[in-house]
Amino acid sequence: MKSHARVVIVGGGIMGVGLLYHLAEAGWDDCVLIEKAELTSGSTWHAAGQCPNFTADYNIAKIQHYSNALYPKLEELTGQATGWHGVGGIRFATTKEELDNFRLVAGIAKNVGFQMQIISPEEIRRLNPFVNTKGVLAGAWTLDDGYVDPAGVTNAMATGAKKMGATIIRHNRVTDINLLPNGEWEVVSQQGTITCEHVVNAGGCYAARIAAWVGLDLPITSMKHQYLVTEPIEEFIDHDVEIPVMRDPYPNAYYRQEQNSGLIGIYERRNTQEAWFGSEQDWDAESELFAADYDTIMPGLERVMERMPIFAEAGIMRVVNGANPRTPDHNPLLGPAPGLRNYWLSCGQNMGIGQGAGAGKYLAQWMMYGSAEINMVGVDPRRFGPYADRDYARAKAHQDFTFMYALRLPGEERPAGRPARTSPLYEKLKSKGGAFGETFGWERPKWFSLDGRDEEKSFRRNNIFELVGDECRAVRERVGVLDLSSFTKHDVTGPDAEDFLNRVLANRVSRRKGGLVLAHGLTELGRIESEYTVTRLDDEHFYLLSAAAANLRNTDQLNHSKRDDEKVTIKNITEEWGVLVLAGPHSRDLLIKITNANLSNAHFPWLTGKEIEVAEVGVRALRVNYVGELGWELHMPTAQLENVYNSLWAAGEEFGIADFGMYALTSLGKEKAYYSWGVELINEITMIEAGMERFVDFSKGNFVGRDALIRRKQERLAWNIAYVEVAADDAEVRGGEPVLDKDKVIGVTTSGAYGHTIKKSLAFVYVPPEYAAPGTTFDIEILSHRCQAKVLGEPAYDPRNKRLRS
Ligand SMILES: Cc1cc2nc3c(=O)[nH]c(=O)nc-3n(C[C@H](O)[C@H](O)[C@H](O)COP(=O)(O)OP(=O)(O)OC[C@H]3O[C@@H](n4cnc5c(N)ncnc54)[C@H](O)[C@@H]3O)c2cc1C
Repeated sequence: MKSHARVVIVGGGIMGVGLLYHLAEAGWDDCVLIEKAELTSGSTWHAAGQCPNFTADYNIAKIQHYSNALYPKLEELTGQATGWHGVGGIRFATTKEELDNFRLVAGIAKNVGFQMQIISPEEIRRLNPFVNTKGVLAGAWTLDDGYVDPAGVTNAMATGAKKMGATIIRHNRVTDINLLPNGEWEVVSQQGTITCEHVVNAGGCYAARIAAWVGLDLPITSMKHQYLVTEPIEEFIDHDVEIPVMRDPYPNAYYRQEQNSGLIGIYERRNTQEAWFGSEQDWDAESELFAADYDTIMPGLERVMERMPIFAEAGIMRVVNGANPRTPDHNPLLGPAPGLRNYWLSCGQNMGIGQGAGAGKYLAQWMMYGSAEINMVGVDPRRFGPYADRDYARAKAHQDFTFMYALRLPGEERPAGRPARTSPLYEKLKSKGGAFGETFGWERPKWFSLDGRDEEKSFRRNNIFELVGDECRAVRERVGVLDLSSFTKHDVTGPDAEDFLNRVLANRVSRRKGGLVLAHGLTELGRIESEYTVTRLDDEHFYLLSAAAANLRNTDQLNHSKRDDEKVTIKNITEEWGVLVLAGPHSRDLLIKITNANLSNAHFPWLTGKEIEVAEVGVRALRVNYVGELGWELHMPTAQLENVYNSLWAAGEEFGIADFGMYALTSLGKEKAYYSWGVELINEITMIEAGMERFVDFSKGNFVGRDALIRRKQERLAWNIAYVEVAADDAEVRGGEPVLDKDKVIGVTTSGAYGHTIKKSLAFVYVPPEYAAPGTTFDIEILSHRCQAKVLGEPAYDPRNKRLRS
C-alpha cells in the first residue's frame, strides 16, 4: 500500500466512488479509496436504484440532473454495465397546493434542463394503464430519469476512476484518522498507514463513528427502509413498454416494474424504525439486511394495492429492509467538516443513487478549486451547529421519513426537535402571537398573529398577506422592533486585527473608531464566500455580524485565514450577545427616552456604531438596518435582552411601537434592493456579477481573491444581477423560476417578495448583461404563469437613503 496520497476517501459506496471518479476525471488521480469490505456493501448494493429529477430545490435539481445525464453514458465510458432504465417517473398531485408545487418544479426544470410535463390523469393512465388515479389531480412526468443497478453504476464509476489513475483498496478497514502537526491527515488502516492532504469521510451508516475519531458529532441517523419485489405479474409480461417509476403521496410510496415483477417501496407514516437505535452497526457487518417487517409497511402497502390492483394478486418474492443514512433536513452532508481543514464529508445521504454522481462532481470541484460551480450552501455540513445533537437528528429523521412524499408548503412548520435554540424573548413573543420559523436551530418570529389566526399555508398570497403589510407599515410609518439574536457575531481583536481583516475581506475596514462597512470574504477564485457588517469598536477591536446560517462557515473562514504570525483573536460570541432591531421614523424619539447618549445625526450618523447605555444596559448600538429606515440595531449581553425589549416597548407605546417578523423584514429589505448572503450572494459568482464593486477596495493592496476579481473585470460576464418589479397577480417569485425572452430561457430568479409600501412584487434575477440594463423587460414564469418583469435602476423605496440618514 502506498504511504502518501493527495486524497484518501474512506468508504466505497456510491458517494465515495462517485467522488473518486470525478476527482480523477478532473485531474486529481493521486487519490486512494479504502473500503472495508466489497464496494457497495453498505447501503448502496441493496438500494432500489431510482434516480429522480423531481425536486423543488434548484441546486439539488442540478445534482440529480447531472447524475441522470451521466448514468446512461457510463457503460460506454467505462465498459461496465449499469442497468440504466430510462423509464421516466410520474409523481402524483392530489391537492391544488401539490399542483402549484409541480408548477414551481416545472420552472426549475426549464432552468436546470430536465424535461418535465404536468399531465392529466388520462395521460397518467396512458403511461401506466394499471394505475387507479382516483383523487389524482395531475402528474409530474419527468421524462429523463429512471433507475439503475446501484452496484453496476458504482462499479462503473470505480472502473472509470481506476482507468484514470485512481487507486481502490478493498477489504481494508480504516481504524483511525489523525491530524499531523504539518496539517496533513494520517489514515490508519488494517493494511497500513497513509498520509494525505485531504481526507474524505464517505462512510455511509458508519460516518458518524468515523467522524468521532476527530472529535466531530455528526447529525446523522440511519433509518430502516423497506421495499418488496413481487412475483412476476401477467399484465407486465403482456405489456410492451415498461411503466415509469410512480411516486405517490397517498401511500407515501414509490412503485415500479422490476423486469416483470412489481417493486414497491414504503415510507411508513407511523412506527418508523431506526436501524441500530441504542447500539451500533458492527464494523464487520457487510451487505447487512434486516428481517422483513410487514406490520409497519402494511398501511402503505394496502394503499398501493388500491392504486395498482394488479399487485394485489401477486405473491411477494423478496423483501429488502436496509439501512439508510439521514440528516435532519433530508439533504446530505457534502463539504468541509466544521472546524477542520481538508477534512471533507460526503455522507448522511439518503438518495445516494440519484445524487451520487452529481454530489461527487460538485464536491470534487469544491475540494480542488475552493468552490463548486453550483451553490452548495444547502448541503454544506456546517449548516448544522452543536444544537443538532443526536436526539435532534433522530427526531428530525423520523419526521422526515413520515413526510417523504408529502409536500412541505411555504409557511409550514414541522415540530420535531424544536425549539432547539431560543432567545430569552421566545416565550414572550410567542404569547404575543409570534409564529416562528427555524434557522440554524434558532426560533425566529416570522409574523405576529394579533387576532389568533393561523397562516393558511400556500404558494400564493394568503390570509396573512395584509397582516405582514401592517407590520411593514408600522416600521415605515411609526417604529418596529424585531428580535434578531440569531445573527452570527464575532469579535476580532488584537494588534493585527485591522491588517488581518483587510487581507481577508474585499472591502477596507473603517479607519476610524465607530466606522461601519459591509465587507465580503472571497475565495481565491474571487467568488463570494461570506458577507459581514464590520464595525470598528476600538483601535484593535472589530465586531463582525453575519447571517445566522453562516455561523460555522464564517468561523471557519476567519480561523482558517489567520496566519500563525498574526496577533489576532477571533471569538464567536453569538450565544452571549442578543440583538434587537429598532427601526422606523420614531426610533430616535423612542430611544432618546431611555438613553443619555447623543443620538443626533452629527454625533451618531448612519453607518456608525457606538457603545452606549440604553435602559441602563451597556449596548453596542449600530446605526444600520436591513429595512431602510432610521434606526439602531442594539446588541447586548443576552441576559439583558428582555429588560431592554420591555423598556423599548414601555417607551414606544406612545409612538405606536409594533413587533415585526422575518416576513416583514424580507419585504422591507426587498424594497431597498438588499441582497441576501446564500441567495443572491453565492459562490457561483463574484462581486462583479453581483454589481457590488463599490464594496471592493482594490487600492488597499492584496486581499484574498483580488487577482481573480481583476481578471473577472476584464472578462465578458455570463451573468449580471438585476433587480426587477414583476407584474405578479397573486404569487411572488420564490427562487429558481425561469426568466424568459419569448420562449428562450435567459436567466433565473433568486428571490422575491411583495413590497407593501410601494405595492409591487419585486425580485432579483441573474440574466446575461444585455438584459440587465434598467428599463429592460422580459418575463418570469411564476407557477406556470408568465408575468412581465422590468429591470429597475435603483431601489424601489427611498433610493437616496434619505430615511436611513434622517
Ligand atoms: C431499501 C433502500 C432502498 C433505497 N433506494 C434508493 C433509491 O431508489 N434511490 C436512491 O437514490 N437511494 C436509495 N436508497 C438510499 C441509498 O442506498 C443510499 O443513499 C446510498 O447507498 C448511500 O451511499 P453511501 O456511499 O453514502 O453509503 P454506503 O453505500 O453505505 O457506503 C459506505 C461505505 O463505507 C464503508 N466503510 C464504512 N466504514 C469504513 C471504514 N472504517 N473503513 C473502510 N470502509 C468503511 C462501508 O463498508 C460502505 O461500503 C435506498 C436505501 C434503502 C435502505
